[in-house]
Amino acid sequence: MSIESQKFFDEAVFVKKEASEKEVELKAVVERLSQPFAEIDFSKEGLVEASSEDGKYKLTFEMVAIDEAAQEKIEAEIKHLKSKGYPDDGKAVEVKNWRRTKRMLFVIDGEEIDTAKFLPADYQILFCPEAEAVHGSIAYEWRSVFLFQNPASILNLSILMHEIGHHNFEQKKVAGKVEKLTGENLSAAEKLRDEREASLFALRRLWTIIKKQNFKEDVVLFLKSEAYNSYCTEALQQLATDRYMAHFYSGYEDEERWERQEEENNQRLELWKQFQLSEFYEDWKKGREFDEEDEWSQYNQFTNWLDKNKNNPEFYDKYFPISEQEQEESNQMPDEVNNDESPPVNNRW
Ligand SMILES: [Zn+2]
Repeated sequence: MSIESQKFFDEAVFVKKEASEKEVELKAVVERLSQPFAEIDFSKEGLVEASSEDGKYKLTFEMVAIDEAAQEKIEAEIKHLKSKGYPDDGKAVEVKNWRRTKRMLFVIDGEEIDTAKFLPADYQILFCPEAEAVHGSIAYEWRSVFLFQNPASILNLSILMHEIGHHNFEQKKVAGKVEKLTGENLSAAEKLRDEREASLFALRRLWTIIKKQNFKEDVVLFLKSEAYNSYCTEALQQLATDRYMAHFYSGYEDEERWERQEEENNQRLELWKQFQLSEFYEDWKKGREFDEEDEWSQYNQFTNWLDKNKNNPEFYDKYFPISEQEQEESNQMPDEVNNDESPPVNNRW
């Protein structure tokens, strides 16, 4: 199986717009999420147990010395970021402002997030509590996660899980469990997919925590934007998606459902492209109210229309006839799956 790189660029149409509309909001979100929930004395090594006054938010970690190896890694990371124009000339550029730990344990409202569950034991987390710019990164070869913010914040937790999401997706790639990309601009599409997967991972893992909290929308918006901002601007320019938004805004229940939904969204996007090229498109637009310039609002109405006709095979036969070529291909498919008694279903759904 493979995925067309174009899909990732198609997504850009929608999210690019949203990201620019919410630029101001995003700043406020970052401001809110970066507020530390507890004060920590970063000058002492040893066990840190930080807790908010009401005890709702807790962070536990062991602060260990920055050894020579860690120091080199921090220096290299700073150099690397500077070469990429990282906008922080403050605390983060000095190694003495960095701290090190092997593991962070968050407990929020009784829900635990333990990095040891997701990161191999030889990883370290290097962080700069007073960094001016918000950032995170992961270096597989150095077995290190870099965090540029106060660890006792929801922002830090979100970024940390995003970075761990990169590790997780990389593992899947190494294990050959990831679909190959085909088409144009593969490396840009690959980066977009990496960011997308990292944020989705973070959201899945954080969902039970954030859905009960008043910062749910903030985290969702941040993780979406984080994915776009943290990578090459040119890819960012093209980035976007309704699939993305559908993922993020529909209540997440379990991974399986999430994946099912992703599949469904891919299919819808395909149908939308097909429909726009069909003879029915112009007529369909008549009598519907939307901004001509805004493809997202059209697409929204389109998916509503699909939903209404979900169980109507005639609807699909009429508007989305299967081409002869596809017909032939599906005839050639071995019929392994359909050996139960279930009625035949439209293969697009
Ligand atoms: Zn990332």
